[in-house]
Amino acid sequence: MGAFRPAIENMAGYAPGEQPQAGKFIKLNTNENPYPPSPRVTAAIEAALEHGLTRYPDPVGDAFRRRAADIYGVEPDWILCGNGSDDILTILTRAFVGEGQLIRLPYPSYTLYRTLAEIQGARFEEVNFAADWSLSSSFAAAAGGLRLVFLPNPNSPSGTVAPPAAVRELAEQLPCPLLIDEAYVDFADDHCIDLVRQCENVMVSRTLSKSYGLAGLRFGFLIAQPHVIAELHKVKDSYNCDALSIAGATAAIDDQVWLRENRARVIATRERLQEELARLGFSVTPSQANFVWCSHPAQSAQSLYERLKQQRVLVRYMQYPRWGEGLRVTVGDDSQVDACLTLLKTMV
Ligand SMILES: *Cc1c(COP(=O)(O)O)cnc(C)c1O
Repeated sequence: MGAFRPAIENMAGYAPGEQPQAGKFIKLNTNENPYPPSPRVTAAIEAALEHGLTRYPDPVGDAFRRRAADIYGVEPDWILCGNGSDDILTILTRAFVGEGQLIRLPYPSYTLYRTLAEIQGARFEEVNFAADWSLSSSFAAAAGGLRLVFLPNPNSPSGTVAPPAAVRELAEQLPCPLLIDEAYVDFADDHCIDLVRQCENVMVSRTLSKSYGLAGLRFGFLIAQPHVIAELHKVKDSYNCDALSIAGATAAIDDQVWLRENRARVIATRERLQEELARLGFSVTPSQANFVWCSHPAQSAQSLYERLKQQRVLVRYMQYPRWGEGLRVTVGDDSQVDACLTLLKTMV
């Protein structure tokens, strides 16, 4: 065709983790929740179906916004609904960053941020984490054309967090909006929603894909000050969330008891997985997410990944230029994690 913008022809495109459609794999590679969602979710989707799909959905998802606003102690106009939090990240990039302007992100972290910059024809600056996964001071520095900073917190692949006090300091120094991507925060000790009220340039994104067990539903949301949300509503697709996902997401977030129980189960298995990996000689980064980042001093991560895959256990092998490699293992249920550990015992 030859008619594509050069930015598109020159980019590689985002590479998601493998989603095998056939065959039986134990899937510990894309941080999905191993447990089924709250039963209220299916009931709500069935009720919405009963109601029919003839009409367009609510363009802003007010039912969800009201419920989420209650839970987080804000007003509904502080919330923007998205078709997954990836949609939220796309909306932010389109709204804040012009061609040739700059997005900053930490490295290694979520690779989609870079893809979004490339699609937009924007520049991106990857700032290396320190060896202990803390943010270096250059992450807060001003830079020409800097329009947006992405900070996944907890980070992927490390599962580490920047404490709210450090994030606040960062926000106060930055001359531009700061998006704190809290995709995994329900598994962590602390969150940054309070900063949205305190700092005008802070926004927090959340997703139902991980902690609510609804990656297939595609629902995420942003919490930001009302004047920010109002501008972002101009940028989003008119009906970015469908009627079924709004109904399912509203029921899911309404069931905070389910969330608490699920969180406790996942965290218990995470702690056990970390201990067992350490016992096998892995170096393990203490995680506040639903996955564990590890590597073995005597075995290549790539070979462990391949041998596990031959035995039908999928983990995520990550290789970061200028940084190194490792395995990111999702916290599955106890039997999935045991199957993985049993195989690893024969390999190291
Ligand atoms: C999984 C993930 C998301 C995206 O979640 P969706 O809501 O499924 O689009 C966003 N950020 C990070 C860091 C993630 O790991």
